[in-house]
Amino acid sequence: MKVLKFGGTSVGSSKNINNVISILEDYSKSDSVICVVSAVGGITDKLLLAGKLAQNKDSEFLEVFNTIKEIHLNIVNELIPNNNNNVIAFVNKRLEELNNLLNGIFLINELSPKTSDKLVSFGELLSSFIIAETMKSRGLSAERKNSQELVITNAIFTKAEVNYSITNKNIKDYFNAASQQVTILPGFVSKSVNGEQTTLGRGGSDFTAAIVAAALKVDQLEIWTDVSGMFTTNPKIVKHAYPISEISYQEAMELSHFGAKVLYPPTVQPVLDLEIPIYIKNTLEPEAAGTKISNDALISNKPVKGISNIGNIALLTLEGSGMVGIPGFSKRLFETLSQEKINVILITQASSEHSICLGVEAKDAKAAKEAIDSTFENEIALHKIEPIIVEGELSIVALVGDNMKNHQGISGKLFSALGKNNVNVRAIAQGASEKNISVVIAENDVKKALNVLHEQFFEAKTKQLNVFITGVGNVGERLVEQIKQQRKYLKENLKINIRVVGLSNSRKMVFNEGGIDLKSWKEQLADGEQASLQGFFENAKTMNLRNSIFVDVTANKNVADLYPQYLRESISVVACNKIACSSEYFNYKELKRLSLKYNAPLLFETNVGAGLPVIDTLNNLIASGDKVNSIQAVLSGSLNFVFNNFNDSTKFYDIVKQAAAEGYTEPDPRIDLSGVDVARKILILARESGVEMNLEDIENAPFLSESGLKSDTVDDFYQTLIDDEAHYQSLYASAKANDCQLKYVAKFDNGKASVSLQEIPNGHPFYNLEGSDNIVMFYTERYPEQPMIIKGAGAGADVTASGLFADIIRLGND
Ligand code: ADP
Ligand code: ASP
Ligand code: MG
Repeated sequence: MKVLKFGGTSVGSSKNINNVISILEDYSKSDSVICVVSAVGGITDKLLLAGKLAQNKDSEFLEVFNTIKEIHLNIVNELIPNNNNNVIAFVNKRLEELNNLLNGIFLINELSPKTSDKLVSFGELLSSFIIAETMKSRGLSAERKNSQELVITNAIFTKAEVNYSITNKNIKDYFNAASQQVTILPGFVSKSVNGEQTTLGRGGSDFTAAIVAAALKVDQLEIWTDVSGMFTTNPKIVKHAYPISEISYQEAMELSHFGAKVLYPPTVQPVLDLEIPIYIKNTLEPEAAGTKISNDALISNKPVKGISNIGNIALLTLEGSGMVGIPGFSKRLFETLSQEKINVILITQASSEHSICLGVEAKDAKAAKEAIDSTFENEIALHKIEPIIVEGELSIVALVGDNMKNHQGISGKLFSALGKNNVNVRAIAQGASEKNISVVIAENDVKKALNVLHEQFFEAKTKQLNVFITGVGNVGERLVEQIKQQRKYLKENLKINIRVVGLSNSRKMVFNEGGIDLKSWKEQLADGEQASLQGFFENAKTMNLRNSIFVDVTANKNVADLYPQYLRESISVVACNKIACSSEYFNYKELKRLSLKYNAPLLFETNVGAGLPVIDTLNNLIASGDKVNSIQAVLSGSLNFVFNNFNDSTKFYDIVKQAAAEGYTEPDPRIDLSGVDVARKILILARESGVEMNLEDIENAPFLSESGLKSDTVDDFYQTLIDDEAHYQSLYASAKANDCQLKYVAKFDNGKASVSLQEIPNGHPFYNLEGSDNIVMFYTERYPEQPMIIKGAGAGADVTASGLFADIIRLGND
């Protein structure tokens, strides 16, 4: 004999009921089968809603009733299209009783727990009847037995406790005498010893099935639902969750106790001692393996088996220096809660005993506070303890695994994964058996937390990066294209899964939590909402995704001003925009502080030398204990281009124009030609070397003509280049006469920095620098004579984009 239970979705439509019947037909060929069913999906909620409305004198309850009626009659007509008069008559009779009950509630304005149980019982009573009749109409050997005549309880309505001695006898007696192949039983419903209708608690059909399985000592219990087993975590929240093939009773109990709704927590208890295994199966995918819950799984060595969560939690905190001295404090506290029938889900106590935190369902918080404050009225008046503090909108997330106790560092990993993603932990509890570590966090962090923890404990090898890119001009566009091209490689080889979840240019912005399809990102962006810098930030914040990265591919100060906001949300920042790191020193320091505090790296490798690994190398030198003595560098791709191409047969103006056209200069070429851009770069290198310095501290001897320096607009500036050609030619002539090349050089030496155009003699490492190449020479304690040299293309959209990309990947390897 087998016991199968089918949940609400499994019997939620005529199509699904047909699936159930074919599973039952199959099973009943070799053995007799007991099938426990839930109400049709969603009906229990609708019954309760109708009851609430009626109680509140809201005549809308009739509409809800009509929907309930329609759903059932449709199912009957679809399943038994012919000769269904008797079935329809029975269903109508029950529906009429239901209508009368609702009208009664409406009239007396009251819905007691006792009436509520009577009301919700209609769901299972109807579904079981319809399924049994359908089977009979198809000539199958099936009977429906009302479990209210078998499962006997006390009179604690809405969550009654089973009287096993009567119940087990009833079940055994009935099935010993039964001759049908298939017995359909309504789950969830029961009766008290005095014959009043009771129920076993929401989700209780699983429990009914376990009670029957245990009473008959069957070989196995199967719970058929809408997912293929008990998953590593709720598959509706974490896409990568997967079914656990085997799990122990204890683990399954812990997971379900902490919110894995797939199994009603008390279900394990009746079958546990008898060691009847429970299988969780999917009605919609019967061939899937599902989960086996038994003692066989005890030997598993995987430390964390699953993660679950319960929402709608409130935390009650009692604090006070006088708590230690209050006689019987804990006893009085828990007695108070027990009298109020308030279930305590989690308890933590500071070792000093100065504070105790209790996690309860949010709906109980107010009553709990009132009751506790009143119990300790005197102590509160004497300031021995403070009035209780209630915090709401919280959730419990629990890591579960029998074998956690044998592994060190699980909680360390838990906290660091949450901390890195700015998930604040309000309270922590660890069972003495170490099968469970629970944390209390804000409700709106749950999705992020579950995903982060799942990644940490179950997908340890892949890390998902959620990227928000602002600025998709020349460089930004290349970056998106490079990401598109490399995604697969990174996933397969580096186990980094990059998703671009937000994109913006100055006009439009677009977001997609599942990742913007990069094949059509331009079209999607064009159809996006109106762009706003603050709006972009707000979206990134609200999406609250793990490993979020903001990428600034602009040269805009207003964008740079938002970095603190991003960092405070633990969103990492990757920037090619130099403005932030070359702004006032205190601002730079503040960004570093925020980055550390919120565990959100701020990476700006492309600020110096585009894609060349200049800052990373410098950081590695410093981190490994080296000290920078001096830096000499050619850091402007644009100025290099200009002076490599300028000579006595070209015009300075033409060369600058060409540099601008090829994208080597900033949109305003004065930023390059005045040396400001190079000054910013050497400033950043000096700061990264550990020196406190500001832009004004950098000596900048300009080579531009007087009028060029004074020009107000870009156009005026270009005109001065034409007018002052002679000035520029004289710079060239002098260099040529000295057999030198003109290079724009940045220096940092002895705590001082300067930028200037210099005549570089033949033989110097800078002499042969070509095109837009950059070169940086670090003279350090470890490289005193032969400097560490980094050289290569230092400008251009592709190399800058690849530098940004490298920073993003760096975050993935973190
Ligand atoms: P039924 O109506 O069949 O009893 P339930 O809705 O009670 O089904 O339980 C199944 C649901 O439990 C799934 O659809 C899923 O949303 C939820 N769930 C939560 N945690 C888990 C988990 N760890 N594994 C599987 N399902 C889970
Ligand atoms: N129908 C009940 C509920 O929705 C019992 C169950 O489905 O397990 O809670
Ligand atoms: Mg259920």
